[in-house]
Amino acid sequence: MSFPAAPDAVSSRRPSSCERQAVPNATDPLFREDAYLREVEAIVESVEPGGLVLDRTIFYPQGGGQPGDRGELLLEDGSRLVVVNTTYGADRGTIVHGLAEGSAVPMRGARVAARIDWDLRYKRMRAHTALHLLTAVLPYPVTGGAVGDGEGRLDFDSGEAALDKAEIAEKLNALIGRDAIVRYRWILDEELAANPGLVKTMSVRPPTGTGRVRLVEIDGIDLQPCGGTHVRRTKEIGEAGVTQIEKKGRINRRVRIALSQNAA
Ligand SMILES: [Zn+2]
Repeated sequence: MSFPAAPDAVSSRRPSSCERQAVPNATDPLFREDAYLREVEAIVESVEPGGLVLDRTIFYPQGGGQPGDRGELLLEDGSRLVVVNTTYGADRGTIVHGLAEGSAVPMRGARVAARIDWDLRYKRMRAHTALHLLTAVLPYPVTGGAVGDGEGRLDFDSGEAALDKAEIAEKLNALIGRDAIVRYRWILDEELAANPGLVKTMSVRPPTGTGRVRLVEIDGIDLQPCGGTHVRRTKEIGEAGVTQIEKKGRINRRVRIALSQNAA
């Protein structure tokens, strides 16, 4: 999913690892192949005004309605740098690890152990995957959304349909309870163009332009282009509740969900 409400909704338009040669020193986005990596060794590629660029990373950069990862970088001398946010560089190919104010910046070429705040990320993975399921429960065009820490929201052009919190929650939990597998596959831009029904989000073009697009499939439930991080099976989401349905316009409704504290 890519949400127009996001400050950086074109995030997943960045080149995939196959096309990275288009951007010199692009960061290898390891989280795209494996969202469960918590720590990785990397090398400082460059030092930018906004933070450090590494040769590869497991830090998800803010975009598509999902916040950037936080965490820490451990240097060989034992010092520790706090990463307060992660964003894409202006070239869209590098990923910038924003450091806490006053951090002593390491030299280019320095080795680091990059470690994400896993508790935070996992809450976001669960919430993000739950929002995919919500689009299956409410099969209306999505006009915006955001992933939070164990909660999230989507805006739907649901027309005059009456939305009921309890009914939506029941259907959402039924989908979670199926323990469906989440898998990824890549398709060519032309294939996506031939299947416009895959795109649920209005007013944001899918991330085409690099030749191929990553599809996220929740087995038997949902299939759409998305560059975010997801859990492997829907049961990991745990119990979900619908906390609010807000009228945002004549035909537009904002649906907020929250997950229970303890994941399955
Ligand atoms: Zn997604």
